[in-house]
Amino acid sequence: MERARRAPSGPRRLAINETQDDPARLIDEAVRYLPGGTYATTTLDRSPRPDFIFSHGAGAYVYTTDGERLLDVTLGHSSLILGHCSQPVGAAVKAQIDRGNTFTRVTRPTIDLARMVVEAVPCAEKVRLVNSGSEGVLLALRAVRAFTGREKVLKFEGAYHGFADELFFNTNYGNPDEWQDLPQSTPDSPGTPALLRDLVLIAPYNDLDGTREVVRAHRDELAGIFVEPVMRGIASRPGFLEGVREMASEFHIPLVFDEVNTGFRLALGGAQAFYGVTPDLAVFGKGMGSGYPIGAIAGSDEIMSVFDPASPEGSKVFSLGSFHGNALSATAGTATLTELRKPGTYERLNGYGDQLREGLSELFSRYDLPAQMSGEGSIVEFFFTLEPITDYRSTLRTNLRLKALLGGALRRHGVFGGGGRYTSSTCHGDDELTMMLDAVEASLKEIREAGELA
Ligand code: PLP
Repeated sequence: MERARRAPSGPRRLAINETQDDPARLIDEAVRYLPGGTYATTTLDRSPRPDFIFSHGAGAYVYTTDGERLLDVTLGHSSLILGHCSQPVGAAVKAQIDRGNTFTRVTRPTIDLARMVVEAVPCAEKVRLVNSGSEGVLLALRAVRAFTGREKVLKFEGAYHGFADELFFNTNYGNPDEWQDLPQSTPDSPGTPALLRDLVLIAPYNDLDGTREVVRAHRDELAGIFVEPVMRGIASRPGFLEGVREMASEFHIPLVFDEVNTGFRLALGGAQAFYGVTPDLAVFGKGMGSGYPIGAIAGSDEIMSVFDPASPEGSKVFSLGSFHGNALSATAGTATLTELRKPGTYERLNGYGDQLREGLSELFSRYDLPAQMSGEGSIVEFFFTLEPITDYRSTLRTNLRLKALLGGALRRHGVFGGGGRYTSSTCHGDDELTMMLDAVEASLKEIREAGELA
């Protein structure tokens, strides 16, 4: 049914330079034209309207239209491993703009990027390029289903594999109080078809016995096991990924690492190189393209052959996107990997993460706050609790209120990052480490003075 067109109401449309000069009016415009004045809708974010608008970023910092400079520890959902506006990436993309961006057929940057991924990533013999992590996960699902002829998939409780319906079950955006007993799955968003529930099984993270029980019971139905090698900020326990690898091989179920977060961040070869555990298939995104829209699926020749147009009908899967393999994102990818390949990159990145973890831990104990440090390398996470953190449920038994208070206070002390899961870039160095720890200390002091630490 066609909706009646209403006459425009509310504030008049502003000229661009008028809004740039007036941050408050820019916020009004955001609310007027974007639902909630935002591009993201999650259970974790309930702010009624944005409190500021970003104008630009440079290196480790972002700037608001109010002229404020903030240390960025979220970095475009952790995609900016080289920081904001990496010069080599920007220069390469600008040069490619003059050569064209999308061609319907393969271009040189796509081939170069695929070769670089194959050279770096242990499981990669062939690569398919898409535009986001979510798209990569969707195609990986279709690939393993076609490859095995089975339909169910296993994921872990609390893991996030993108916004698509297929795996939006029992994620870190959900409420376990409302979930069915494992291994049954529960969707985390209205609008997710209940029918898909039957295709998704849930296992407890870092629990090999619990996982084996589900895998063994459903061995003949499972098309794939999807795992985040570092689940959100929760590091996999030593032996967990190896154990999942073994059971996947034993039961002939493809193992898929979702490396959208860990890929090119923990090591050039991703978490699989970092931990020395090779999956059958892996999905990448984020850091691969320095913030340009990109995603990739990489795996063995055998499994990736489902994407080969010469494959026999019946096993060949449909995969086509107008912007897949576009030359701009692929160029951003080759320029990013060229930078990341330089010696010392990961010692610096992971070293910064370890120093930050150490500094935070020391600060928390100075403030008598029992805390568990988590994450891996440059993915830095912590929880206020005495109990070890092993899975999503254990994070919910921690002092999340204090974490949220800390996140709010940090913003007042020059840091854009919220409460936890801090990431860094190659632009984060000694000055940024000092700034971050000083801001955390000032925030804790403020929270204590407000009587909120008790
Ligand atoms: N998988 C993981 C592990 C992620 O962290 C994300 C994004 O946060 C995705 C998939 C989805 O990627 P995108 O946001 O590029 O669609």
